[in-house]
Amino acid sequence: MPRILIVGGGYAGFYTAWKLEKWLRPGEAEVTVVDPLPYMTYQPFLPEVAAGSIEPRHAIVPLRRHLKKTEIVAAKVTGIDHASKTATITPNIGEPYEFAYDQIVVTAGSVSRTFPIPGVADEAIGLKTIEEAVAIRDRILTNMDKAAGLPAGPERDRLLTIVVVGGGFAGIEIFAELRSFVSGLLKQYPEIKFEDTHFHLIEAMGRIMPEVSLPTSLWVIKNLAERGAEIHLDTQLKSAVDGVIELSTGDSFESDTIIWTAGVMASPMLKGTDLPIEERGRLQVRPDLRVGTADNIVPDAWGAGDVSAVPDLSGGGVGGFCVPNAQHAVRQGRLMAKNIVAELRGEKLVEYNHKNLGAVAGLGIGVGAFQSGKIAVKGLPAWFMHRGYHGLAMPTWERKIRVIGNWVFNFVLGRDIASLEARVHPRAAFEAFASRPRPAAEAPAEPAAEAKRPAAKRAPAKKTAEKSLPSPEGAPIVVGGGDPVDTK
Ligand SMILES: Cc1cc2nc3c(=O)[nH]c(=O)nc-3n(C[C@H](O)[C@H](O)[C@H](O)COP(=O)(O)OP(=O)(O)OC[C@H]3O[C@@H](n4cnc5c(N)ncnc54)[C@H](O)[C@@H]3O)c2cc1C
Repeated sequence: MPRILIVGGGYAGFYTAWKLEKWLRPGEAEVTVVDPLPYMTYQPFLPEVAAGSIEPRHAIVPLRRHLKKTEIVAAKVTGIDHASKTATITPNIGEPYEFAYDQIVVTAGSVSRTFPIPGVADEAIGLKTIEEAVAIRDRILTNMDKAAGLPAGPERDRLLTIVVVGGGFAGIEIFAELRSFVSGLLKQYPEIKFEDTHFHLIEAMGRIMPEVSLPTSLWVIKNLAERGAEIHLDTQLKSAVDGVIELSTGDSFESDTIIWTAGVMASPMLKGTDLPIEERGRLQVRPDLRVGTADNIVPDAWGAGDVSAVPDLSGGGVGGFCVPNAQHAVRQGRLMAKNIVAELRGEKLVEYNHKNLGAVAGLGIGVGAFQSGKIAVKGLPAWFMHRGYHGLAMPTWERKIRVIGNWVFNFVLGRDIASLEARVHPRAAFEAFASRPRPAAEAPAEPAAEAKRPAAKRAPAKKTAEKSLPSPEGAPIVVGGGDPVDTK
């Protein structure tokens, strides 16, 4: 049976595997998905996860639950030698090994693209993963708790200042969602006033959200300004060392929450392959989603999603290629599955041609912006459109029900607002009170009677101490014989 290896189980990889399960006949091919994460992340929900409107586990799709006929491997693909059709797989635990395949599908997505600005690598956080979204939510809640107990001053200001770098879709969505989140929290924090909270978005270009028209983007800026969130256009971040933000305009302030959303780049895993890469570091892909160019096909290799430069036949792409978004990744994943099946059966392949449907952004509870061609919808109707579209676009009914159910619960009961930041040190409470064996050097002097016993019969104190497990009361329990050691 031919072996199909899918590198990355995100949007494009998940849809490819899901549709292959549907369209492959029994015994026609076997499919393996390799991803270090056991789930696909629905990234458009990350701003709402950070703002506490969606439970983190509802915004992901567990691969093993929904890909029942596919082999799932928790690992990274760290090399591809397509000349010999072998991939190097580095498991989350264990030694790397070689995997022989017949067809390879590269859907490894993208990572946050940063610039060497002092302090960014140490202080900022990205917004590409569910873990980052959860960390942002908890950081904001923990900082509200801390600030509530502090007098006015620089430390309090720092805790209550949120900075987002990058005014693209993801940046504006997280900025607006967090503004809505913090404004909503103020009811529960009477110690903090609206004027005490500060929101700054830094954008190097003269406008935000290139996906929507200029009037719509100006409406978003005005709406955010009215809600107490400032957008700095034509402004660059110069430094973020120790959380001190320095802008190209000369402004400076401190922040404990710096979120970086200034673009993405193709997964660097491509560097470990012999597949063709174009000048912007993306996999070179043809309109039929086979790797290669118009005149030079790389047989049995496929690519889609953010990692690939797929020609945009609709004419709407930037530089002639599809922009990195979920709209394309999902449709390319589906078509790729169709084309792989067609190739296995010796049938004709179809070219990818999708005209952009438009863009819809959630900007906090009750506010949204939608743009399709010249049609723009703003405010509450656009927010309903955002929830309607994404609620239905979430793959599988099991996930749709969880997300939509969560929205309904939040509407009735309000958002859940406790920080679980302590989870990053889950053993701290246990460790603080756990009894430990005393180090051998501090062990009490041997009783006189013990000292008189022949040396050969005495248990070696150090060895026994290493084997002792303290009971909850601190009384020693000895494992494997020998004299007990007092751990009190
Ligand atoms: C905050 C945010 C909001 C967004 N909102 C929208 C929106 O509203 N509309 C829209 O259309 N798009 C949106 N996008 C963009 C969209 O989510 C991406 O374009 C889409 O996820 C790309 O899909 P992909 O399959 O290429 O990559 P991904 O979904 O990122 O999947 C890549 C997978 O590859 C895995 N991987 C990486 N390296 C390796 C390796 N070496 N070996 C094995 N596996 C590997 C990763 O773990 C990951 O699971 C948003 C993105 C973000 C970050």
